[in-house]
Amino acid sequence: MGHLGQNAPMSSHPTPDPAPVTAPVETRDALGRPLHDLRISLLDQCNFRCPYCMPEAEFHADYEFLRKQQRLTYDEILRVARVAAGLGVSKLRLTGGEPLLDKNVADLVARLAEIPGIDDLALTTNGMLLARMAATLADAGLHRVTISLDSLDEAVFRRMSGGRGDLSQVLAGVDAAQRAGLSPIKINVVVERGMNDNTVMDLLEYFRGSGHIVRLIEYMDVGNRNGWRMEQVVPSRELLERIVQRWPLGRVDKKYAGEVARRYKYVDGQGEIGFISSVTEPFCGDCSRARLSADGVLYTCLFASHGTDLRESLRNNADEEELTDILSRIWLQRADRYSELRSPELAEAHMQRKVEMYRIGG
Ligand code: SAM
Repeated sequence: MGHLGQNAPMSSHPTPDPAPVTAPVETRDALGRPLHDLRISLLDQCNFRCPYCMPEAEFHADYEFLRKQQRLTYDEILRVARVAAGLGVSKLRLTGGEPLLDKNVADLVARLAEIPGIDDLALTTNGMLLARMAATLADAGLHRVTISLDSLDEAVFRRMSGGRGDLSQVLAGVDAAQRAGLSPIKINVVVERGMNDNTVMDLLEYFRGSGHIVRLIEYMDVGNRNGWRMEQVVPSRELLERIVQRWPLGRVDKKYAGEVARRYKYVDGQGEIGFISSVTEPFCGDCSRARLSADGVLYTCLFASHGTDLRESLRNNADEEELTDILSRIWLQRADRYSELRSPELAEAHMQRKVEMYRIGG
């Protein structure tokens, strides 16, 4: 057998790189959806107590969050991420809880950035600790950040962060992320009727022309602890009508099939905004995301009531082949489409059973 390339005819073209040992195999679920996106929740703790996610009454001083030994180690996270990349995942997002509460997160970022096939490495944060960490994260290989910021009205922001947020610190985080090149920066705004819906226009005005992309998210019925009611949801359509009266918008095509935000551009060239309308316009048909909780449970839907524990297999030294087998079986069987089927009956049946957002991130 000749050494690869030894007997190859001379060519003026450079020799292409050999195929990676584990070339991604596209795995499709029971509804034909590929697996492209893995969200990794680093920890379940958060420095905010947003009433729609981690209400203070439930997540009080005595609440028992996961202990360190219950959480996946970086090595374990990396093993899952590598296997996921082998099954077609090209996008990783670190989330939580608040991922920046993990002071060593840049070390993990650096290792995730080296996984072949990962071309998009992002992190979702409330921004409170971002100013001091943005440059280190960018140096480690993070591509971009999404920053959650529900209002620029100090009082409303404070209320929506459960009395814990400091608006100036979050805005400093946005600036630091921009300086570090963690862009395009997305600003996530959960819109809740009677809470912050009347502050949305000011927030849009502030970010118009900045290059940052504001995404208006319908308040979702994730988890069971936020007391979600349909009346609190402001349908994206209603917001869109309000916005176009002031700033005409044009539709932007999807960048890729699994993109959840419906994108628009300001006609006057001042940038882009998006709507995430999981409640009134569900997008299950395109959903290509899996979610890994901090304690190693893999969920295939944001509204799931159960997931698959990977931690035990990881700690029993499952090798790459075994993990690939477990992950691909989970994905092949996946048939979730909670948002499309959402009904009072289904919501009722899921009550007390849905996984909480703080465990699997947004
Ligand atoms: N702590 C980080 C942060 O605040 O961005 C990451 C985790 S947080 C759970 C991720 C995203 O989920 C945030 O943008 C948050 O606003 C959003 N979120 C949480 N609960 C939500 C709900 N009930 N409806 C819509 N979005 C929600």
